[in-house]
Amino acid sequence: MRILVVEDDKDLNRQLVRALGDAGYAVDTAFDGEEGHFLGDTEPYDLVILDIGLPKKDGISVLEQWRRSNRVMPVIILTARDRWSDKVSGMDAGADDYMAKPFHMEELLARVRAQVRRATGHAKSEIECGPVRLDTKSSRVTCNGQQVKLTSHEYRLLAYLMHHSGRVVSRTELVEHLYDQDFDRDSNTIEVFVGRLRKKLPTDVIETVRGLGYRMGPGSDAV
Ligand code: CA
Repeated sequence: MRILVVEDDKDLNRQLVRALGDAGYAVDTAFDGEEGHFLGDTEPYDLVILDIGLPKKDGISVLEQWRRSNRVMPVIILTARDRWSDKVSGMDAGADDYMAKPFHMEELLARVRAQVRRATGHAKSEIECGPVRLDTKSSRVTCNGQQVKLTSHEYRLLAYLMHHSGRVVSRTELVEHLYDQDFDRDSNTIEVFVGRLRKKLPTDVIETVRGLGYRMGPGSDAV
């Protein structure tokens, strides 16, 4: 899952990038409203964290512009604690959730997980595909009840496929959603990671759809 952070406070921006990176997300970052708007308008993010008070263009305008051009990714806005009116205008502009500063990073991460889940049609924090179970809260994967040890890249790939279970996901889509902007993207690496996952999981769990991409079966929690 790939996330955009738009926050002009350099320290907070850095903290967000680190926490999200540790949690297994690919993260791009912007420090003003214009750059943030451009990235959100041109790159396929799974979620955006958007500060309201930004230089060059405020967060509400950025969000309104995205929604006008049908950019529907989940957006969590960051507001100043005592500015209740920011929360109202943010939600009205199309925000999905908000966090008032200062906030606990753990709470923000829980809200991020919830939004990503909802956006992909999962109500529960555990996603199942056949014998494979993904606990999005602890980032743990089990197969028939046994823990499966994955590298962070393997985890990202599996988590994306499981969030989107039941549909074919192309290699291009995987590359766009698993790596940040600065990553040297080579879609061959996707095949390598799929190969590694197949060695750690039952081989038929990830289906190759010739010429189109990969698919994991719908789980019992599919809606
Ligand atoms: Ca700010």
